[in-house]
Amino acid sequence: MSGLLSIDEALARVLARVRPLEAERVGVSEAAGRFLAEDVAAQVSLPPFASSAMDGFAVRAAELPGTLPIGLRIAAGAPAGRALEPGEAMGIATGAAVPEGADAVVPIESVVEIDNRIEVATAVSAGLHIRPVGGDVREGEPVLSAGTRLGAAQIGALAAVGAAEVSCVRRPSVVVLSTGTELRRPGEPLGPGQIYESNGPMLAAALASAGAIVERIGPVADDEAEHRPALERGLEADVLVSSGGVSVGPHDLVRRILAELGVEEHFWRVAVRPGKPVSFGTRGATLVFGLPGNPVSSLVGLELFVRPALRALQGAAEPGPGYESGRLAVALRRNAARDELVRARIRRGNGETELDPLSGQESHMIARASAANALVLVPSGEGELAPGDRVRYLRLS
Ligand code: AMP
Ligand code: MG
Repeated sequence: MSGLLSIDEALARVLARVRPLEAERVGVSEAAGRFLAEDVAAQVSLPPFASSAMDGFAVRAAELPGTLPIGLRIAAGAPAGRALEPGEAMGIATGAAVPEGADAVVPIESVVEIDNRIEVATAVSAGLHIRPVGGDVREGEPVLSAGTRLGAAQIGALAAVGAAEVSCVRRPSVVVLSTGTELRRPGEPLGPGQIYESNGPMLAAALASAGAIVERIGPVADDEAEHRPALERGLEADVLVSSGGVSVGPHDLVRRILAELGVEEHFWRVAVRPGKPVSFGTRGATLVFGLPGNPVSSLVGLELFVRPALRALQGAAEPGPGYESGRLAVALRRNAARDELVRARIRRGNGETELDPLSGQESHMIARASAANALVLVPSGEGELAPGDRVRYLRLS
C-alpha cells in the first residue's frame, strides 16, 4: 500500500488549485452562510448615542441620595429635546438617549415614585446604567474581515452597524453526477441486482450546506454513451463531483473519459479508509472530484477534500477540514497503511468530549453511519489506540 498519497498531501494538491471566485453584492438579510469578500467597518458607532441600559430615571449622580421631581419622560427613539436641569430627574426607557447633563440612570426598581417625584435612598456612581457612545464599536472601526463566514451573529453585527449590502464571494455551482447501472431512484421499484441511489441526495445535501448551488445528474449507466455527455455537462460547473466508477473494474469509466475530455488528473488514490480510490483533477478553473461509490467512502471524500475546496473557492480564511479534539472511549486497532475515518458518536463525560465508535464500519453501511455525528481520524500505524487516547475528529452536521 506504500506509495499512496497522504490525506494532507492530497488536500494540499486540491487547495493549490483553488482560486477564489468573484465577489458580488448581497443584501445582508440574504447573506447567511456566505463568505465576506471585503473587510467591513462600522458606518456608525454602536451605540450611536449614550443610551440607557435600564428602564429608570436619568439623574446627576452627585445629587443622590435625595428626592427629585420628574421633569420629563423619554421614550426610546425620541430624544429628550433639552438638557437635564440641576435638581431634576427624567424618566427614561431602555435604549432611550440619555439627556445632556445626566450622568447616571437609577433603575425603576431602586426608586420610590410619589406625586411625580422620585426618592432614592442610596448613592449612585457616575456612569451607572449608561451605555457610552461606541462602547461596542466606534464608527470606522473594523467589524468583520474578508474570509469570514456569515452566521447569525455576524448578520446581526452587519445590520447593527448599518450595512445594507456586503460584498460576498459568489456561490460555486456544483454538479453531482451519480454513476452505476445498478442504481434506481427512491420511489422506483427495485429489480434484481439493483439498489437505491443514495449518494446523489447525500452529496447534494452536504454540498448545499457548504454553500454550493447544486445540480444533480443521473444516475447514469456504466457505459460510455451515458457517461460522456453527463461528465461534459458537469465540466461546465465550477465543481464536478462524481460518485462511483473510479476503481479498477472494467465498468469504472469515469477517470478515462474525464481524461479524454481534457481533465488533468492531480491524484488518484489516497491512503485513507474508507475512500481510497478518490480522484482529483482540473480542467481550466473547474475542479473535478471522482468519489468512490460506496456511500461512506463518498461521504468521507466529501468531508476531507470537497468541502474544504468549496470553502476555499468562497474565499474562506480557514478552508478546513475543521478537526476538533477529543478522547477515545474504547480501544481501536490501527490500519498499518491507511489513515482511517471511523464513524462515532460524540459523548460528553466529565467535561471531556468522548468519541464512541459505532459498530458496523464497512464502507457500504450508510444506514449505520447515519447514527454517527463524528468521523474520528485514526492515524495509520502498528498496534492500537487505547481508551482515553486523544484523537482528532470531524463533526458531521
Ligand atoms: P463503484 O465505486 O462504482 O465501484 O461502487 C462501489 C459500490 O458503491 C457498489 O456497491 C455500488 O453499487 C455502490 N454505489 C455506487 N454508487 C452509488 C450511489 N450513488 N448510491 C448508493 N450506492 C452506490
Ligand atoms: Mg459503479
